[in-house]
Amino acid sequence: MAIDFETHPGLRLAARHSADEQTRVRIGAVEIGGGEFTVIAGPCAVESHDQIRACAEQVKLNGCQILRGGCFKGRTSPYSFQGLGSKGLELLALAGAEFQLPTITEVLGETVLEEIENKADILQVGARNMQNYSLLRAVGRSRRPVLLKRHMSASIHELLSAAEYILSEGNPNVILCERGIRTFEHETRFTLDISAVPLLRLKTHLPIVVDPSHAAGRSDIVIPLALAARAAGAHGLMVEIHPDPGCAQSDSAQALSFEQFASLCSLLRRG
Ligand code: PEP
Ligand code: MN
Repeated sequence: MAIDFETHPGLRLAARHSADEQTRVRIGAVEIGGGEFTVIAGPCAVESHDQIRACAEQVKLNGCQILRGGCFKGRTSPYSFQGLGSKGLELLALAGAEFQLPTITEVLGETVLEEIENKADILQVGARNMQNYSLLRAVGRSRRPVLLKRHMSASIHELLSAAEYILSEGNPNVILCERGIRTFEHETRFTLDISAVPLLRLKTHLPIVVDPSHAAGRSDIVIPLALAARAAGAHGLMVEIHPDPGCAQSDSAQALSFEQFASLCSLLRRG
């Protein structure tokens, strides 16, 4: 792969400076950006003990590495399910501990940062918070790795500049996440910007994870998008799964059933 040695003055920490530079983010025994392709999976939102436990069991059974689950949800409507909050965080931590899976959940704002730092392994900054500079600085001072999602209307340069905020506060463990951008297309919820993957590989040393679930907004095309993301050079995936997708309290249309999830994992194993 040709390497872009260009460095932007505003991206002194996020930009790639040499061909072999690659950040590997370690979370216990898991490494994102190393040789192994990483799969992060779990429900959009933690809904109950049984639901998150069932998801964690599937994540483990299918050989995936990290359990996701939203606890403090930022929803488009204030009247939609907002997540179980602190209770959800406890259930997520419990399921992670039972199946020995590191966990990731979204930090919706600075007020919940300390609580999440104490209970989850990776901090997720949601797409809508990508340019919340005080939150970026706060997670930059955290001891926890950060998964930074690209805003649906942010350029690649803006995503890297947001990562720079976190890096500049001293946290080197930043994972970038492409999760779809807004276009004129409405068959899908967003449009997965597959170009972002090889472009980011050229421009930065930070690991890149693709979230085909929020990009698609519909479960029937998540698997091909996930395979395309890996083929394009992503270091990992983040996918939403649910024991009963039709009954999910958030993002029901895009959640993979356990059967679909197992089939995705078997396709990934086949290489
Ligand atoms: C999520 O992953 O839970 C989420 C809300 O995604 P995004 O921030 O990309 O919309
Ligand atoms: Mn979701």
